[in-house]
Amino acid sequence: MESVREIIIIPCSGIGKPTGTVGRAATYEVVEKLRPANSKTLCLALLVKGDKEALNMVHQHPCITIDGCPLECARKNVELAGGRLACGMKVTDVYKDHKELKPETVLDIGEPGRKLARLLAEMVAREVDDIIAKRGAEKNG
Ligand code: SF4
Repeated sequence: MESVREIIIIPCSGIGKPTGTVGRAATYEVVEKLRPANSKTLCLALLVKGDKEALNMVHQHPCITIDGCPLECARKNVELAGGRLACGMKVTDVYKDHKELKPETVLDIGEPGRKLARLLAEMVAREVDDIIAKRGAEKNG
């Protein structure tokens, strides 16, 4: 049965791009600080290799993907797995509107990168709230 109280936040692996690091940092901010009671994360690699538990998670809970670039590896893999994609976000979209927050390197995104991650995390947290409110209303309506 689908659970609307817990949203799965799935960042891409983003190994070679500072925007990938930003996406992971934003994910940790949401699941550990902003919405710890209503969100958790999942390793994209588990989903890609067809891990049963990971598949169950994306089938049973609404998912928000966070991709580091327009290739959207996280979003596409959640869709391929038949997951309940509620929203797909891209770090590059947020950066487009905040060019002053250029992340520095993969290993250290610097203060601008951390600010970009916080901004993205706040957007994701609002999405979490919206999904819960909307699905709750659907259930009651
Ligand atoms: S979406 Fe872009 S940054 Fe993320 S894993 Fe794919 S290619 Fe790398």
